[in-house]
Amino acid sequence: MCKLDLTKPIYHDNDAAREHLESLLWPQGPVCPRCGVMEDRITKLKGKSTRPGVYKCKDCRKPFSVTVGTVMERSKVPLCKWVLAAQLMASSKKGMSAKQLQRMIGTNYETAWFLFHRLRECALDPNRGPVGGENKVVEADETYIGGKARNARKGKPVPKKMAVFSLVERDGEVRSFRVTNVNAKTLRPILVKNASRKSYLMTDESTV
Ligand SMILES: [Zn+2]
Repeated sequence: MCKLDLTKPIYHDNDAAREHLESLLWPQGPVCPRCGVMEDRITKLKGKSTRPGVYKCKDCRKPFSVTVGTVMERSKVPLCKWVLAAQLMASSKKGMSAKQLQRMIGTNYETAWFLFHRLRECALDPNRGPVGGENKVVEADETYIGGKARNARKGKPVPKKMAVFSLVERDGEVRSFRVTNVNAKTLRPILVKNASRKSYLMTDESTV
């Protein structure tokens, strides 16, 4: 009924599943879900007492993982079951019932029913819809990261300054993009792809 390689570790191993989600949701590396910052503003937390996949933002000082702000946050269902259920539902042409899902993922019916409904409400699709929408305000924001002497490692040159362009939906989602230069040529394609045309766009500068 669908061609999925069910032997892939992402369907059986929670670490592999998490790394898979990280590569889908953070193609350019971890992004703080609160501030939208990336790269050298983020540290990976390590140590025996820390769960794998936890990062900390140097700006808001709060830890986060790839599931923060998603349907999987605080779920007791193992991540690999989420990934498997999402793939099965996405690749089933005719759609499937919660009962069919239960048979395929090998959980009890209650868990399958829960996954079935959560995933239907919010598709785990890397090509998510645009931010904003009718009567919503999207703010475009440019941040420059790096380029500060205090961030340089001892004896290493000061890291090059880098521009990060963020689209912030008021009271909503933040999406960040690394750009080489902040100008209309680099920003327009990001805007067209990621911000709904129905939203009001607010920028500090008139580059876009
Ligand atoms: Zn932060």
